[in-house]
Amino acid sequence: MDMFLQRIEELRRQLNEHNHNYYVLNQPTISDQEFDHMMRELQDLERDYPQYADPLSPTQRVGSDINKAFVQVRHERPMMSLANSYSIEEVQDFLRRAKEGLGGEPCEIVGEMKYDGTSISVTYENGRLVRAVTRGDGVQGDDVTANVITIRSVPLQLPEGLDFPIRFEVRGEILLPWKSFEAINKERAFNEEPLFANPRNAAAGTLKLQNSAEVARRGLDAYFYFLLGDNLPFATHGESLDALKRWGFKTGEHTILQSIDDVEGFIAHWDAARRNLPVATDGLVFKINSLRQQLNLGATAKSPRWAIAYKFAPERECTRLQFVSFEVGRTGVITPVANLDPVLLSGTVVKRASLHNQDIIRSLDIHDGDMVYVEKGGEIIPKIVGVDVKQRLPQSQPVTFVSVCPACGTTLQRVEGEAAWVCPNKWTCPPQITGRIEHFVARHAMNIDGIGEEVAIALHDHGLVNDVADLYSLTEEQLVALDRFQQRSAQRILRGIADSRQVPFARVIFALSIPFVGETTAKVLARNVHDIDTLMAMPAEQLASIPEIGPKIAQSIVDYFAAESNRRIVERLRQAGLQMSLSEEELASRGDALAGKKIVISGVFQHHSREEYKAMIEQNGGKNVSSISKATNYVLAGDNMGPAKLEKAQKLGVPIINEDEFLALLS
Ligand code: AMP
Ligand code: ZN
Repeated sequence: MDMFLQRIEELRRQLNEHNHNYYVLNQPTISDQEFDHMMRELQDLERDYPQYADPLSPTQRVGSDINKAFVQVRHERPMMSLANSYSIEEVQDFLRRAKEGLGGEPCEIVGEMKYDGTSISVTYENGRLVRAVTRGDGVQGDDVTANVITIRSVPLQLPEGLDFPIRFEVRGEILLPWKSFEAINKERAFNEEPLFANPRNAAAGTLKLQNSAEVARRGLDAYFYFLLGDNLPFATHGESLDALKRWGFKTGEHTILQSIDDVEGFIAHWDAARRNLPVATDGLVFKINSLRQQLNLGATAKSPRWAIAYKFAPERECTRLQFVSFEVGRTGVITPVANLDPVLLSGTVVKRASLHNQDIIRSLDIHDGDMVYVEKGGEIIPKIVGVDVKQRLPQSQPVTFVSVCPACGTTLQRVEGEAAWVCPNKWTCPPQITGRIEHFVARHAMNIDGIGEEVAIALHDHGLVNDVADLYSLTEEQLVALDRFQQRSAQRILRGIADSRQVPFARVIFALSIPFVGETTAKVLARNVHDIDTLMAMPAEQLASIPEIGPKIAQSIVDYFAAESNRRIVERLRQAGLQMSLSEEELASRGDALAGKKIVISGVFQHHSREEYKAMIEQNGGKNVSSISKATNYVLAGDNMGPAKLEKAQKLGVPIINEDEFLALLS
């Protein structure tokens, strides 16, 4: 065999093993650097010897940003759901029925976690992953193999010499661990994108992304709980779970239970212990252990008769309100936050809960020192759902809303028509400044890594960064002297700052934190106004005459640039080398060919990616919309356009154009 191929195969085998040690066993045996080093060697070899490429190579875990529409696949065996129960009595009933069905035979039970994610079926042939399909409607689902390959704990190639059958299917749950979930929502909050309500929605949404590189970034995990196949050599479910574990799959917690007392003990244990798991669970699952007994019991139309889910009551705790703090956001809006005696809820310690606004505080009639009920039904931000009035302290007073800014002392103003109070001291109120720094560096803005909330506050507290323009005079010595940075992370921040000079004009506008100017508005402004000097000089009426810019946004832009301090910041950003106008390229490629047109993109394309088509539409004055309505002007259709979309477009008489026709429209 070619010595390069030999080395490639050796590296793949070792990297797979280290992935398993790290992501499944949580026991890495080599350092991250050693791992990266091997990965780089493999990447280099695969680049130099493309004839040895393998879609299941460990290098492919990073995914790709080429869009692929999902193909519908029929399940070999339907994916059923589980019957639910909510009390030990219902579980007892289930066991009684099972025993009856088995003619009174004794039976063993396996107790497992019910993972709260999205279910997946993965097929292996000769130890290689060949396909991963979502549950869909149970009969057929989406082929999401490209996305599942990016999940580090899912084996791509099983080690040789193990006792796995030639062909088998595993089923499990794809989850977004709490840590990844919280990180993603934090980032989404920065980017003013809607937050995911809970890890289940986030996992399902992530798995359906048509960009596997983004999926890889999000940090999904997978736990497996079923093995299926023809003539499998196992007598019990427990044995097949042990086999899955042996072959390198991450399996959940499971215990063999002999009696209803064992079941009760298992529930009592996990009701508390599940809070320490790294992933969300919404209950337990009990399964009859013997596969022969399972076969005898069979299934109803919806669910097997040999398994039952036990759902936990939604988590709610009662704890003491210590005090209400009032926090100032980037735009000056004041958010009341309940600071609580710490309680454990859904695996995380909760110390704070949002009280949203003055109206909510009033309707809860919350008093200082009250015992309050906190709920966290998988949602990221816990909420206060009520007060235990019986435990109210005799002299306690209702919580009052502050009248001056807690950060800078300025008298608050109530936003007309809204429940919010704001601090009007936009330009020198510290949390508004640090909030703007965080916004400025966010991924969809200037994309500077390594500056989160704490760093932004530290930079401001040390007098290093008073406004975003100060970022551009930071030095490595200053950052290292802050003593929270290693040299390496300081350099990473500086590299990000340097690179941000190339960030296009539209994102610079977005990064400035002009009230009401989000990502989309910033793009519209860049396209229509071309450069910052014109923008700064534009009167409100003229701004408002730009399509999609209303009078409220127009006035906000004028107010922003009327402030001397803001004009100075813009000037200094210009000196620092930021893009203050559309580039030659953007100007050349920009046109009005699609002015005001609403266009839906559907299917897979040959010449450009979906993202590129989206950008082209916007650069030419059009708007990319997601669903077809009477107001849609065109559907830009590639291969495999969804049948529902096709039908709708035809019904509404919306013209369908292909790639070539679209490109012709632009030229
Ligand atoms: P439901 O969707 O509420 O009917 O519950 C059934 C779903 O629970 C299954 O489709 C699986 O996605 C999920 N599930 C989570 N953990 C397990 C487990 N240990 N065994 C079986 N199903 C599970
Ligand atoms: Zn203030």
